[in-house]
Amino acid sequence: MPHIMIAGGGIAGLTAALALHTAGFQRITVVETVRDIQPIGAGLNIMPNAVRELDALGLLDRLEERAVRTRELRYYHCSGGLISRDRRGLGAGYHWPQLSIHRGELQLALAEAVRTRLGRGALVGGVKVTGVEPLPDGRPRVQLEHRDGARRGKASLEPDVLIGADGIRSAVRAALNPGEGEPPWNGMLIWRGVSRIPAHRIGTFMFIAGDDRRKAVVYPLTEPAGDTGEVLVNWALVMPADSVEDAWRGDWNRRVPVESFLHHYEGWEFDGVSVPDVVRAADTAYEYPMVDREPLARWSHGRTTLIGDAAHAMYPVGSNGATQSIVDGRALAHAMALHADPADALAAFEAERRPAMSELQQSNRQLGPEVVISLAHQRAPGGFSDIDEVIPQAELAEIAARYAATGAFDPGTVNRGSPYDLATRSPR
Ligand SMILES: Cc1cc2nc3c(=O)[nH]c(=O)nc-3n(C[C@H](O)[C@H](O)[C@H](O)COP(=O)(O)OP(=O)(O)OC[C@H]3O[C@@H](n4cnc5c(N)ncnc54)[C@H](O)[C@@H]3O)c2cc1C
Repeated sequence: MPHIMIAGGGIAGLTAALALHTAGFQRITVVETVRDIQPIGAGLNIMPNAVRELDALGLLDRLEERAVRTRELRYYHCSGGLISRDRRGLGAGYHWPQLSIHRGELQLALAEAVRTRLGRGALVGGVKVTGVEPLPDGRPRVQLEHRDGARRGKASLEPDVLIGADGIRSAVRAALNPGEGEPPWNGMLIWRGVSRIPAHRIGTFMFIAGDDRRKAVVYPLTEPAGDTGEVLVNWALVMPADSVEDAWRGDWNRRVPVESFLHHYEGWEFDGVSVPDVVRAADTAYEYPMVDREPLARWSHGRTTLIGDAAHAMYPVGSNGATQSIVDGRALAHAMALHADPADALAAFEAERRPAMSELQQSNRQLGPEVVISLAHQRAPGGFSDIDEVIPQAELAEIAARYAATGAFDPGTVNRGSPYDLATRSPR
C-alpha cells in the first residue's frame, strides 16, 4: 500500500486526499504549512464540472449548506450597458449546479471531511515542505520544517508518492524547476473582499463589469440572514498598477483602505447594484498583484507530480482556478487506481490534464470569456443601448462556447458524467 504525501492542504490538496481515499488508498498524509486552517480569503465560483466531482465524493449536500447556487451571470460595460445575461448551473442545462462559496468555508468543509474519513492524523498543520530530491529507487525524499510544537525543526520523509498541491509559490514546483523564480506579474492589481449588504441592495445574480482596463466582479455568497436580512457579498476590482497613485510596493497580500482605490469606480452601478456601496461596506480590502505561472512542459517527475495552482496557476478569469484544482484531485486518484506503478499513474494523469490546463492558462491571459467586455468597449467606448449593434448574439455565444470547450465544462461534456468514477474500490 503506497504512502502518498500531499504538500498543501488547500482546495487541490484536500480534494486529492478525499479522492484518493475514495479510490481505496489508505496511507495518505497532507502536510500544510498553516497550523490551523482558518476561514480566510474571499469568494469562489465553482463550476458544474467540479461540483460533479465533489458530488461523487459525497460532499454536495454539505457544501450546498454553505454556498448559494449561481443562477445567472451578467456582463456589463462600465457605462451600465448590459452585454449578456446567461443562466448558469441547472438553469443552463447542467445536471449539477454552479456554486458561489467563501473559499474558507470550502476549505474547512474539505478539511473536516479529510479528518472524519481519513483520520485526524491525515492532515498535519504547521509543517512546511522545503525541498524534494529523487532517491535512486525513484521515491522522493521530502524535506520538511516543523514550525511549532515538540517536533519543531527540520526533518525528512521518504513517501512512495509526492503530490505538490502547495499553490502558486509551490516549493515542490520550485524543486522540480530550479531557477523558475517568482510568478510573472502582468502589471494589474486586484483588490478583493467581502461585504455584508441588505439583500434588497444586491441582485441574486453574479456580474462582471468593466472596460478595457478596469473590472469589477460582484456576487452574493449567502442567502439573506434571518435576523438582519443581510447577504454576504464577494467583490473583486482590477486595474493597472500604473494608474494607482499609491504605487504597489511589492507586498504579496496587503490590507489597504478602500478609499485608496474606490474613486476609480465611482458611479459604477449595474441594474441597481452600486459597486462603491458594496465595497464601502467591507471590513477589509486586500490588494494582490495579478500573477499566474508559465505553462510547464512537464508536471510529473517519477513519483512526484503537481496539481492545482502549483501545476497551472492562471489569472482569475472564468472561475477556473479552484474548479480545475478539484478536477485534478479526482483525475489523479483515478490514474493512481488504474496503474500499478505510481510513476505510470502520474504520467497518465499529466497526459490527460496538462494540455487542456496549459490552453486555459493561455486563454485566461487573453481574458477568456471576459474578452466580451473589452470588445464592447473597443467598439462602443461611450456605451450603447443595443448590444446587438456592438457584438452580435452569435459572436457572444461563440466566445462562451469556445472557452467552455477548452476547460471541458460545456453542458454536453459535463452531463456525460464523471470520467473518474471507478467501478470497484479495493483497499490499497
Ligand atoms: C481574485 C481571485 C478570484 C478567484 N476566483 C476564483 C473563482 O471564482 N473560481 C475558481 O475556481 N477559482 C478562483 N480563483 C483561483 C483559486 O483561488 C485558486 O486557483 C485555488 O485556490 C487554487 O487552489 P490550490 O489548492 O491549488 O492552492 P491554494 O489555495 O493556494 O492552497 C495551497 C495550500 O498549500 C499550503 N502551502 C503553501 N506552501 C506550502 C509548503 N511549502 N508546504 C506545505 N504547505 C504549503 C498553503 O498554506 C495553502 O493552504 C481566484 C483567485 C483569485 C486571486
